[in-house]
Amino acid sequence: MITWQAGKIVEKKEWCEDLYSIKIETETLPFKAGQFANIGIEIDDGIINRPYSLVNTPDEPLLEVHFNTVKEGRFSPLLTTQDIGSPISVATRAGGMLTLDQVPESRTELWFCATGTGIGPFLSLLHTTAIWQRFDKIIVCYATKTAAEMAYRDELNALQLKYPTQFQFIPFITREVSEGAIHSRFTTALASGELETFANAPLNVNSSHLMLCGSSAMIDEMTTLLEQKGLSRHSRQQPGHIAIEKYF
Ligand SMILES: Cc1cc2nc3c(=O)[nH]c(=O)nc-3n(C[C@H](O)[C@H](O)[C@H](O)COP(=O)(O)OP(=O)(O)OC[C@H]3O[C@@H](n4cnc5c(N)ncnc54)[C@H](O)[C@@H]3O)c2cc1C
Repeated sequence: MITWQAGKIVEKKEWCEDLYSIKIETETLPFKAGQFANIGIEIDDGIINRPYSLVNTPDEPLLEVHFNTVKEGRFSPLLTTQDIGSPISVATRAGGMLTLDQVPESRTELWFCATGTGIGPFLSLLHTTAIWQRFDKIIVCYATKTAAEMAYRDELNALQLKYPTQFQFIPFITREVSEGAIHSRFTTALASGELETFANAPLNVNSSHLMLCGSSAMIDEMTTLLEQKGLSRHSRQQPGHIAIEKYF
């Protein structure tokens, strides 16, 4: 059973239609960068809730969640109507495997591949100091349909300026041409070999580790392509190269 702590929305940002980030004030929630927590809203017959990745780092006082409104969904339209000052419940335990302690010691290149709001856990990881101390190269492949949907792009561009050789941000915008972004899906770029060229980092079974977050379609396709290159799914029992978190 989920136990809850009370929270309150203290900031809300609308990136574009149906795409938001909120900040929540609540008691300290212990979690690791890259994890998710259940977020709930009280309705007549109890608390309706869904899991959301935490965008903030564990030492930041406010929890941050980045989400899109799924029009036919039950929870996200309700979350969309909540505003600054609205009460919100937060599960007292966070979970998830997209954490640095899950990456085998030998890996020196870390890839983050996100579609849409799947960028959330990677932002939390990118804002920790540990990640920059541990990896020689960090590559972010981030795909959205339109440029307006590419939330947090300024933050990622700022990291590119701060870490010009250690970091590679590769934006993909699939449904329109946008300056500075690749007009294609990153699965297509991986299949053609271009992704490794853009990243300036060939995939390697000894040194590469990938975290994939977002839609099942992207994750399944990427996993198949990566397995063809000799990489394998990672689990606690069986260390591998590919850690995943499917949102839907
Ligand atoms: C571990 C985990 C972490 C997650 N973190 C996030 C997050 O950080 N941000 C976020 O926006 N969502 C996240 N999700 C998805 C989120 O929990 C909800 O499923 C989503 O917000 C839709 O909820 P809903 O009740 O409105 O729709 P539901 O009633 O649950 O689903 C309605 C339909 O929408 C589909 N769907 C679910 N999510 C999406 C989506 N994002 N885009 C399009 N279709 C979708 C479902 O497959 C289903 O067919 C996460 C899911 C998991 C499992």
